Amino acid sequence: MKAYRAMLTKLPKDKCDVNHIRRLMALTNLAYRDFEVWVPDILKTIQFQLYNFKNYKNSLVFGHIPKRWFARSWISLVTLRVYQDGSMKGDRVAPVVLDFKNGVIKLRKICKNELGYFIEIQMPSWVVERLKEGGDIKFAMIGLKDNEPYLALIAEREVAQYTPSEYKLVVDVNSWKYGIAWGLIKNGKLITWRTEKPNMFLINTLYHQTIDRERKVGKLKTLGYSSSVKVDKIKEQAYARRSKIYMITRDKAYFLTSKLVKKALKYKALLVIDDMTEESRRELLEEGLPRDVVKLLMSNLKRFVHQVETLAQWYGVPYELKRLPSTVCPMCGSKLVQEDGRTMVCTNCGFKAPRDMVPMYWAVKIYI
Ligand SMILES: [Zn+2]
Repeated sequence: MKAYRAMLTKLPKDKCDVNHIRRLMALTNLAYRDFEVWVPDILKTIQFQLYNFKNYKNSLVFGHIPKRWFARSWISLVTLRVYQDGSMKGDRVAPVVLDFKNGVIKLRKICKNELGYFIEIQMPSWVVERLKEGGDIKFAMIGLKDNEPYLALIAEREVAQYTPSEYKLVVDVNSWKYGIAWGLIKNGKLITWRTEKPNMFLINTLYHQTIDRERKVGKLKTLGYSSSVKVDKIKEQAYARRSKIYMITRDKAYFLTSKLVKKALKYKALLVIDDMTEESRRELLEEGLPRDVVKLLMSNLKRFVHQVETLAQWYGVPYELKRLPSTVCPMCGSKLVQEDGRTMVCTNCGFKAPRDMVPMYWAVKIYI
């Protein structure tokens, strides 16, 4: 099985012609739609990249067919790899050269429409790590994100999944309010489990600071100060706090991805991912939380599930996406009743467990 991982690197804006990249993105969009537009003033070697890649588009991680006309399509590029011992792999005239000997990435003719133009950036340690793991960077992509030029490097690796041991690692993806729960099951017995959360006190504080500032802006606006330096400053502060919350959940998701996949690898466990994000969203709305709070409490969770899948594929961890019930009794199948403190109780057989633990009991039952 082939596994992929991708990484973005920002390119120096002063050395990249943003308008040129934007134009190439438009041509790429046309190329995906089977229009071959040969533009006389763009270098032939670069134009060949667009039309050669039409055939590869489905094999690339990023290379999906644009949904809309003029949607942003990144330009796929082949690479040349020059290794420590001087040996080479790939296309000799590739626009992207990964030079492991000198620790640099050279971009030729792509950042500016000028013959012989090239820029050099430092080789990210991420690339060297993927190489050590047996990965190869056969493709790269260039494009704009928020009007900034970026290079995406796509590592490819041939990987065989291991045969799962007697361990199962069950991951329950809820909201950040109740956290991501995981449990390690050995031979049908739950041996450890934990709920992982970001610093909720900090998130709460930041959220209230954001709301305070947004209210202040509203008040000043009604008084006629809609565009003053003071209003702009408060607006900026509110925005910075909201972004900070988003960053906290993103970092936590990233940290947990690596922790859980490593744990699965350590025990050679089957990884079971229970994506309950939709159910959790409903639960939060039923609790009467404002929509923007719900949005923050659910931020980066879809990304988390995607990241766990990508990383599991990369390291050959066998995994399953499985829905495990949290409101049905795992012992007798009756409907559970929720008591204070999110404790679930079965009125039929007396089963009792915290809500986030119920799916673990189901996993024990299903995977025995
Ligand atoms: Zn029961």
